[in-house]
Amino acid sequence: MDQSVRIVFLGGLGEIGRNCCCIEVDGRILLIDCGIMFPDADMPGVDLVLPDFTYLRENADRVDAILLTHAHEDHAGGIAFLLRDVSVPVYGSALSLALARNRIEEAGMLDRTELIPVVDGERRRIGPVDCQFIPVTHSVPEGFAIAFFTPVGTIIHSGDFKLDLTPVDGRHTNLAMLGDIASREGGIRLLMSDSTNAERPGFTPSESTVGAAMRSLFREYPDKRFIVTSFASHLHRVQQVAHAAIANGRKLAFVGRSMQQNITMARERGFIDIPAHAVIDIEETPKLAPGEVCIVCTGSQGEPMSALSLMAAHEHKHVKISPDDVVVISAHAIPGNESNVSRVIDSLHRAGAEVVHDRTSPVHVSGHASQEELKFLLTLLEPEWFVPVHGEYRHLVHHAQLARDVGIAENRVIICEDGDVITLTTDGAYGERRAVPAGYMYVDGIVGDIGHGVLRDRRVLSEEGVVVVILTVDTQAGRVLTGPEIVTRGWVYAPEAEDLIEDAKQAVSTAIEGAIAEGALDLDTLRRHARRSLGRFIDERTKRRPIVIPVVMEV
Ligand SMILES: [Zn+2]
Ligand SMILES: [Zn+2]
Repeated sequence: MDQSVRIVFLGGLGEIGRNCCCIEVDGRILLIDCGIMFPDADMPGVDLVLPDFTYLRENADRVDAILLTHAHEDHAGGIAFLLRDVSVPVYGSALSLALARNRIEEAGMLDRTELIPVVDGERRRIGPVDCQFIPVTHSVPEGFAIAFFTPVGTIIHSGDFKLDLTPVDGRHTNLAMLGDIASREGGIRLLMSDSTNAERPGFTPSESTVGAAMRSLFREYPDKRFIVTSFASHLHRVQQVAHAAIANGRKLAFVGRSMQQNITMARERGFIDIPAHAVIDIEETPKLAPGEVCIVCTGSQGEPMSALSLMAAHEHKHVKISPDDVVVISAHAIPGNESNVSRVIDSLHRAGAEVVHDRTSPVHVSGHASQEELKFLLTLLEPEWFVPVHGEYRHLVHHAQLARDVGIAENRVIICEDGDVITLTTDGAYGERRAVPAGYMYVDGIVGDIGHGVLRDRRVLSEEGVVVVILTVDTQAGRVLTGPEIVTRGWVYAPEAEDLIEDAKQAVSTAIEGAIAEGALDLDTLRRHARRSLGRFIDERTKRRPIVIPVVMEV
């Protein structure tokens, strides 16, 4: 029997986001996470970026399940898209499933998707593999590392984690359980571990430190209204803000769809403890003095239509920012969102608010392990092979260095990228580069994947503009009847460039007349001549390469 396990990386290695990898045992596939990535400035009009699902689609009958380490968008945001093509059960903690559920429901996939909750420490067979779900601390409650007991030994995926020794809910990263698994016969054959903070020295502070920072802020500004924004899934953050606010005599109002949805669900199901008497509707807040109110809202990433952005732009129905406000941004901008966040902070200042964020005050801590914690995990597990995951390339390189620092042999550390495949056998592990498709899939609205062509056009449009040339020809008589007319946006400002436009028309006329004289009478050929002559003219005279659209019509 072929005793080997394949690990296929579909995303998350070389970028922050799109975390998605397959573990293949006996030809069956378990998917660990299925996340999205947020677009950056050179992806105009793109809403989100998915992993390439080609490999999963082509092997859909071999996929047994999706295992969620936790419910962040970069781990669970792609599930609803994948389920259209690959219908499989989803395993995760009760909270992870509750958070993922909304999106699966919105995509209309809930009826045909089984959501199977697992509890801390649970070991169960999924497909052909025994899997164990190990509690870890992170910036969303109920995260897991996952151990896979395969025919070639134990593989561990850390999920996103930190070693928070004073977690808000008392649920620690279960080091004893990890150590126990590692000390069994055969040890850990292969570890995949979170590299996000591999460049950061020391230890990541405990989430509890944010509670202390919030309490002192409330004391510092007793008469001002507080508006606190954070990720809607960061229930421990919201919990601490709520406790600090209540202790300082404030009522809480939750604003923004995902914040309201998550907090309602979390209160109902006991994931968070906020007494009913402390919660008011946003419409009631004007009846209270500013010092009696704490609004908790969405928008920590500067998302243009989020509650905080609307407030900052004076467009929110119930909340107008004024000098009576302290706005606390209790989050850190995800790569790609920095400029949006900075714009919102600017608008808040312009409206006169006091703005507190992680560079001015300890109102945010990371959910990811720093160097000493990463080394701790590597030392505890002593894996035979190590693959750093979850990070940009430089994070992976730094994490690999940490592994060597704690004594893992250089040739046992494999830096992989999206599309790479690792095969683990009883003898060892080896990697194949770019073995499966793993490019970016761009999603715009409900259009689905818009492809690289569309994106390239958008980039050219945004940087170089568009020039349209219109003419009608009489192919029978072999002559130009009207035009060429030239319309442009973003190339030159036409009213101030009349001479240039006239010269451009002349260049097209000459080319078309020349082509007709040589017998070219079909419209495709004439269009090609129009595009080429105009493109060349524009390049020569202005050194630009806008999109040129020839419209040649026949009479
Ligand atoms: Zn996460
Ligand atoms: Zn993550």
